[in-house]
Amino acid sequence: MTIRRFAGALIFCSSLAFAQNMVAPADKSATPVEPKAIHSFDVSAIDKSVDPCVDFYAYACGNWRKNNPIPSDQSRWGRFNELGERDRYLLWVDLNRAATDPKTPLQRKYGDFYAACMNSDLADKLGDKPLLPTLALIEKLSDKQGLAALVARLQVDNGTPVFFRFGVEQDEKNSSREIAAVYQAGLGLPDRDYYLLDDARMTKIREQYKEYAVALFKLAGDNDEKAAAEADSVLAIETALAKGSTPRVELRDPAKRYHLLPFSDLSTLAPEFSWTAYLSNTPSPTLAELNIGTPDFFKAMNAVIADQSLDSLKSYLRFHALNSAAPWLSSPYVDLNFGFFEKTLQGQAEQTARWKRCTSLTDRALGEAVGQDWVKENFPPQAKASMQKLVAALEKALNEDIQSLPWMTPETKEQAEAKLAAFREKIGYPEKWRDYSKLEVKRDDLIGNLHRAAAFQIDYEINKLGKPVDEKEWSMTPPTVNAYYQPSNNDINFPAGILQPPFFEFSKDPAVNFGGIGVVIGHEMTHGFDDQGSKYDAKGNVNNWWTPADRAAFEERTSCEVNEYGNFEPVAGQKLNGKLTLGENTADNGGLRIAYRALMSVLASEGDDAATRKIDGYTPAQRFFISFAQIWCENRTEQYSRVSARTDPHSPGMFRANGAVQNFDEFGKAFGCHKGQPMMPEHPCVVW
Ligand SMILES: [Zn+2]
Repeated sequence: MTIRRFAGALIFCSSLAFAQNMVAPADKSATPVEPKAIHSFDVSAIDKSVDPCVDFYAYACGNWRKNNPIPSDQSRWGRFNELGERDRYLLWVDLNRAATDPKTPLQRKYGDFYAACMNSDLADKLGDKPLLPTLALIEKLSDKQGLAALVARLQVDNGTPVFFRFGVEQDEKNSSREIAAVYQAGLGLPDRDYYLLDDARMTKIREQYKEYAVALFKLAGDNDEKAAAEADSVLAIETALAKGSTPRVELRDPAKRYHLLPFSDLSTLAPEFSWTAYLSNTPSPTLAELNIGTPDFFKAMNAVIADQSLDSLKSYLRFHALNSAAPWLSSPYVDLNFGFFEKTLQGQAEQTARWKRCTSLTDRALGEAVGQDWVKENFPPQAKASMQKLVAALEKALNEDIQSLPWMTPETKEQAEAKLAAFREKIGYPEKWRDYSKLEVKRDDLIGNLHRAAAFQIDYEINKLGKPVDEKEWSMTPPTVNAYYQPSNNDINFPAGILQPPFFEFSKDPAVNFGGIGVVIGHEMTHGFDDQGSKYDAKGNVNNWWTPADRAAFEERTSCEVNEYGNFEPVAGQKLNGKLTLGENTADNGGLRIAYRALMSVLASEGDDAATRKIDGYTPAQRFFISFAQIWCENRTEQYSRVSARTDPHSPGMFRANGAVQNFDEFGKAFGCHKGQPMMPEHPCVVW
């Protein structure tokens, strides 16, 4: 229920409503095996038959891509995933130990949570029994007046994602305070486009989604006729909600998602829904005002409640209760859910092993519990010290970059520098861990644990209302392979999980580490100055600090990137959305440039020959660019590529690598390219 705003994460925004389904079902036969150690800069990954000036990604990653087909339990496989699998295995070691031999109360708690999840025999024996109280609650709804209270119970007690999201966020215009907020949600498919586009592919996916819904209702005991009617209702309601949903590109603009209004305005937008009854069935105090993030959506929701029959509304709630629990019920549910969300939609061939799914689930529910033990074993203190040095080097480089910008006036530069100077960094793990003492975990109650964890989470969020913002809070757990910039706090965050090879390896030369974690740091810093981040000031408030002329120059430059990336075609017939990916592309480009600048500064301090000293036959500049591109070596299923082209603000690895190097002449110089070659165009896009 948290409304987290990753204006910029390095890979995924895991808060998509869709992400809850991105786990695959059980495979009892799989036993955990420690993945091989990973190293930065892999010479054997390079395909030397390719001209780096023509297609640098094919050069840096060609052999890796040939030698690393997508494993059957994945829909995307890259070097990111290699590290993700390794971190997950190391987390499993902690969970497995705690499940069998806990030494502390906290270990008992997360060990029990994991053990309950692993008990697939019990899940099979129980069938849909753990969900029956929830289904009975829905069945009992006898009039539309009772809908709001029921929606609150489903969201709060069960974490069922119906209709909208209610949570707490920092006030975008007064970042020192926490406010309540509501946003559009309630769709089962990944995006509104899936309901509204009429091409053959989308039409087919809708049919498959409907087939899935019918099968799910039948599994829960409904006859053919009833299941078909219920599935029709689900599609009709979700299509109406999709029509009222704001496209994700528009939601990138803070002005379009910030509407601080009296609480009573919700009743004006959606009078059919009793908002006071809703609120009184959540742990929230009464609210004078809140951010109604997507007002049009609530009008659409109101029309749905007015137009649809009570039975249709109940079908919609019933579907989402079943759908969100399905990955953790008995095998038929698990398989059915996998078959649609992973296999059909994402192209994943086989179910993910249960130990992997349960490890990830425990990380989501109790990440800062098991994370405390995980970092003791997997995050040496010197890693933090090295990161602090690297961050300082990158901040200095970004400052120099700002000073050297030809398109920005001194007035705006001063503001940009003030924002950079106010950056705070968080490295590795929280200084203060979350307290899980109020979360009850039972070793024989997986669904109950999930429901209690959801309720615990919303309680935690709502508890923030009226209190000072906790600037030390993290939005990612320690073993996560990712990083993020949080615009309301103006801080950059690097979980321990990413501070390892291929991003960061002690024994490697600076060129390799600056091309890896250095670019990641630069990427997150640049998010403070991308299409979204640039609208927030040093204090994390939405506030214009630009002169009109400088803003126009900035937008002219970013529109160059919109066009450039918008012409990349990751899969036949589907181009990237240049506006959706703009922030990430700007961050990739800026990150590469400032990390390169920081590296050159380090090499200059090491003496005359440092910049020309070759290792493995490559100069430091060449090693920097290869290290950068190799972070993004990956293979994707066609289906995965299609979903992510519509939903993921990050470009695929191929374009993250080639898009950034072709905008940076230092790359062409390092590899002896000439102007006009694909990787050294006449008119590159340069922002930061
Ligand atoms: Zn990012």
